[in-house]
Amino acid sequence: MGKKPKQVVVLPCSGIGKTFGALARETAYELVERVRPGLATLTCLPLLVINDPEAVALVTENPVITIDGCPKDCAKKSVEAVGGRVAKAYEAIKFYKEHKDLKPEGIAEVNDTGRKLAQVAAAEVAREVDKLAAGEGE
Ligand code: SF4
Repeated sequence: MGKKPKQVVVLPCSGIGKTFGALARETAYELVERVRPGLATLTCLPLLVINDPEAVALVTENPVITIDGCPKDCAKKSVEAVGGRVAKAYEAIKFYKEHKDLKPEGIAEVNDTGRKLAQVAAAEVAREVDKLAAGEGE
């Protein structure tokens, strides 16, 4: 059992122009705004890319969950590049593979079906947030 963190970082990739990138972002917003507000927190991926000290501190001092939009794993690799350790890495397509009735569409933002899938995904990711917040899995 590790030390209990105050926050768990949920970091989606930028995912510009990709439906599963939009799904990754929507899932992270759902977690931070509605499912685990105050516990799950976000940062902006490009801040890590430019080595912003606050963003780097956030991902090196707290457990991190990444959600990527494709196998290039930009969010996961960006955390690792600044010395952070990713406690759990998701690819957003996994959520669709497990819920084929919820096909997301859209690239700037997902459609209503995509938002429903993001809610289902956020509920799953929230279980990992809770474990990490309890000091498990560190
Ligand atoms: S992981 Fe894929 S979708 Fe996400 S930012 Fe990288 S290239 Fe774009």
